[in-house]
Amino acid sequence: MNTLSRRIPSLLRTAGPSSVSSSSGSAASSLRSGALAASQRLTAGRGYATEAEESAGAVSFKLSEEQEALQDLARKFTADEITPIAAHHDKTMEYPWEVIKKAHSVGLLNTHIPEEFGGPGLGLMECSLISEELAFGCSGIQTAIEANGLAEAPILVAGNKEQKTKYLGRMTEEPLVASYCVTEPGAGSDVAGISTRAEKKGDKWVLNGSKMWITNGGHANWYFVLAKTDPSAKATKSMTGFIVDGDSPGIVKGKKEINMGQRCSDTRMITFEDVEVPEENVLGKPGDGFKTAMGAFDITRPLVAAGATGVAQRALVEAVKYAQERKTMGRPIIQHQAIAFMLADMAMDVEAARGMVWKSCWQKDHGLRNSYYASIAKCLASRAAVANADRAVQVYGGMGFNSESPVEKLYRDAKIFELYEGTSQIQRLIISRMIEEQYKL
Ligand SMILES: Cc1cc2nc3c(=O)[nH]c(=O)nc-3n(C[C@H](O)[C@H](O)[C@H](O)COP(=O)(O)OP(=O)(O)OC[C@H]3O[C@@H](n4cnc5c(N)ncnc54)[C@H](O)[C@@H]3O)c2cc1C
Repeated sequence: MNTLSRRIPSLLRTAGPSSVSSSSGSAASSLRSGALAASQRLTAGRGYATEAEESAGAVSFKLSEEQEALQDLARKFTADEITPIAAHHDKTMEYPWEVIKKAHSVGLLNTHIPEEFGGPGLGLMECSLISEELAFGCSGIQTAIEANGLAEAPILVAGNKEQKTKYLGRMTEEPLVASYCVTEPGAGSDVAGISTRAEKKGDKWVLNGSKMWITNGGHANWYFVLAKTDPSAKATKSMTGFIVDGDSPGIVKGKKEINMGQRCSDTRMITFEDVEVPEENVLGKPGDGFKTAMGAFDITRPLVAAGATGVAQRALVEAVKYAQERKTMGRPIIQHQAIAFMLADMAMDVEAARGMVWKSCWQKDHGLRNSYYASIAKCLASRAAVANADRAVQVYGGMGFNSESPVEKLYRDAKIFELYEGTSQIQRLIISRMIEEQYKL
């Protein structure tokens, strides 16, 4: 174990909740630099395999000490800063700016931005550990945090050095949020059907169209926008990705949508009316936008799946606790086999989901194409979240239907995981096409 590996846990032990909450305090900044330093070691030219994997050259589910330290950091941050205020944000739908600022100050925001652009450059595996922990506290707050990753992913996939320095760099310097704008009122799953247009006029592109359900839309410093640039080309070659500054004239922000769950996350329609975008903000080549927008999902779907796993795990924990306290017919309900087996099913779903999250992350971190496992992880983990939240309400009985119980919120929050970043039907479409290819007769 090296010095850095020892350092993070000791910082965690000494920092305490008040230090973590301080956005400018020296303990917070040393905590952040400790986390960043450990992550820098993780990225030093060896992928993100655990020590056991390295030594044995075999599959390992043992986290390295650095990974455990990051997991601890996120767990402690969640317990101190997210769980206590989750119900408030659910009730008021207030955007969690304060938590975002604190997450930035301790190094839990924008965790996959590479070191050369100011970030900690964590692997997907490390990011997934963080996402699961944050979602355990509140998946609405985690979504607001995670949406930065979604907006940044196309730049990681297709951005040039200047774009990365400018737009990723600024995210590391101050607590900002960004948005990924692909879905439209008339096209969600059918990305090829988008109608937002970008036309070249002189040395600028002019954008027109409306995007729907845009997470962080009301607060974004910049937007990744997918637009049609050559409608006559085949669908996959007809689009281009753009980075659009949030203060560009012509951006109209719709009202905050009132959703079933994850209510503090900000989702809006964003309309672009003759918005001028400089040529230097074209991501990759004109015509490559579809590939860029879809390529981003290999990075982000495992993390959405990690968030869903966090919700599934939280539902399990709440249900197991309640089942030991609540008595019927003279015994704790956990001693009724019907309840005990439901808890066993919950545990199985959590373990299976987490296993797939880790596998999809491991592939990406090792330079392998992970689309297949990213879709499996997303589909399986989102089902686990929905099923476990449902089972937790069942275990709670009538109390589970009441907003005073922790599981009622989980029930409402879980559903979105089966919808955003590709519905479960779309994940099955991807998986089925890949197995058809794999087992072609
Ligand atoms: C809270 C929230 C946040 C979101 N955040 C963002 C964001 O930040 N950026 C962004 O770009 N988008 C975002 N979205 C949009 C989200 O990704 C889409 O809602 C999703 O992709 C589904 O698209 P749709 O709503 O148009 O449904 P549709 O595409 O109309 O689908 C309707 C139903 O038909 C099914 N279906 C569609 N096509 C097929 C098919 N070929 N085979 C089988 N079944 C099919 C779907 O699975 C679904 O059940 C968000 C949505 C929500 C609700």
